[in-house]
Amino acid sequence: MAEPLNFSAHKATHHQPGQPAPSNTLADWLQTSTCPACGFHVAVNFYDGGHAPLTTLAWPKSTEQALAMPKLPLDFVRCVECGHVYNRSFQYADVPYSDKPNLMYNQGALWQDHMQETQALILAKLPENPVVVEIGAGNGHFLKALARQKPQGRYIAYDPNGALDTEDGLVEFYPELFEPAVHLAQYRPDLIIVRHMLEHLENPLAFIQSLGVAAEWEGLPTALFIEVPCIDRVFETGRTVDFFYEHNSHFTTTSLGRLLGRSHAQLEKIARGYEDEVVYAYARLGHSEAGRLITDNARAFYHQAKQIDQQVIAQLNTLADSGKTVAIWGGTGKAATFINRYQVDKTRFPLVVDSDADKAGTYVPGTGQVIHTPQALLKHPVDVIIIATQWRARDIALEIAQRGITCSQLLLEYQGNLVDFAQDVHPYSLPETPSANSNLA
Ligand SMILES: [Zn+2]
Repeated sequence: MAEPLNFSAHKATHHQPGQPAPSNTLADWLQTSTCPACGFHVAVNFYDGGHAPLTTLAWPKSTEQALAMPKLPLDFVRCVECGHVYNRSFQYADVPYSDKPNLMYNQGALWQDHMQETQALILAKLPENPVVVEIGAGNGHFLKALARQKPQGRYIAYDPNGALDTEDGLVEFYPELFEPAVHLAQYRPDLIIVRHMLEHLENPLAFIQSLGVAAEWEGLPTALFIEVPCIDRVFETGRTVDFFYEHNSHFTTTSLGRLLGRSHAQLEKIARGYEDEVVYAYARLGHSEAGRLITDNARAFYHQAKQIDQQVIAQLNTLADSGKTVAIWGGTGKAATFINRYQVDKTRFPLVVDSDADKAGTYVPGTGQVIHTPQALLKHPVDVIIIATQWRARDIALEIAQRGITCSQLLLEYQGNLVDFAQDVHPYSLPETPSANSNLA
């Protein structure tokens, strides 16, 4: 058996932030790390910012506190697939959102122009009496502006660390995490807004994908507006001050588009704003018919498997009670899974054989029957042989015939029932009746 690939061993040679630049060999540059935007698993070194304190969420109260702040690794890599830049050493737990507010300055004149532009885009697409949810709403500045411009509607702000005045019911406010699997069904929103939030998350792709799949499950045509800081200009300006610890993720126009493309969402518009310093996108969630089918199939399989367990166990109980002698063919791997899953215990089913002579003398994992060679069935014929490895059923039936082993019934599990190999319909029947098949009659 081949050695499993050990990617973690590669990390031992990784360049650490704050050290001299690595040599130009691929081993020093290639990083196996998961892109938060597209999920690609290979990145290259992009920016070594050494170690630095938190810059937007710490709020030291004195010089002493400021000087004593812990320094965190700024270890930015770039996804080879979508161009996203992210801190591969980021840990969400190191950012104290729970006791420090994330203050966003909204008063700049040009910034206000940008917000009005995006509000106009959103308002033009909203239906009459919309339900709008903003996730990570902060102080609710943006959501309230929408509510004032289109008051006939329901505006709901979620932010576990937000501080928000609801202004006599202009908006609703819940200081908690928005859970796609719960809250999408609860509010059935026309629009979800996620502004300046994804860049802080450890796994923004998982969050947006959860929204997409939840919309699919509920059959909702919910729209999604996302805005994040954009680093498209960083490449031309050589700017590095964008890369601080609180922003784990740095989106390009491409990487935001790729994130949405991988989230069962249909992109309607993606554009940069505020002199290309932000990128925003408007998309429609829940647009994967294939995804919906997979979800439905998975649920059906899950329930079916539970039912199959009960059926097969009941049939084996009947067989054990009948007083017939039984052998199980197969003792490891899928056969051992059969034996454990269906409670084929050592007391009621002591005889296990395996085609592989190398397995003889070893024991069935979990249940403890000793595994014999098939010769045991020539010395001590049984009434019933159960094939425990469905996928090898044909080969086993041939082997039984060739070895001249006799039994009154050969069984295998198919679609949740123990079926008769010779008599019943199943996909493993032998193409033509071998001469020795009379042994199975
Ligand atoms: Zn990527």
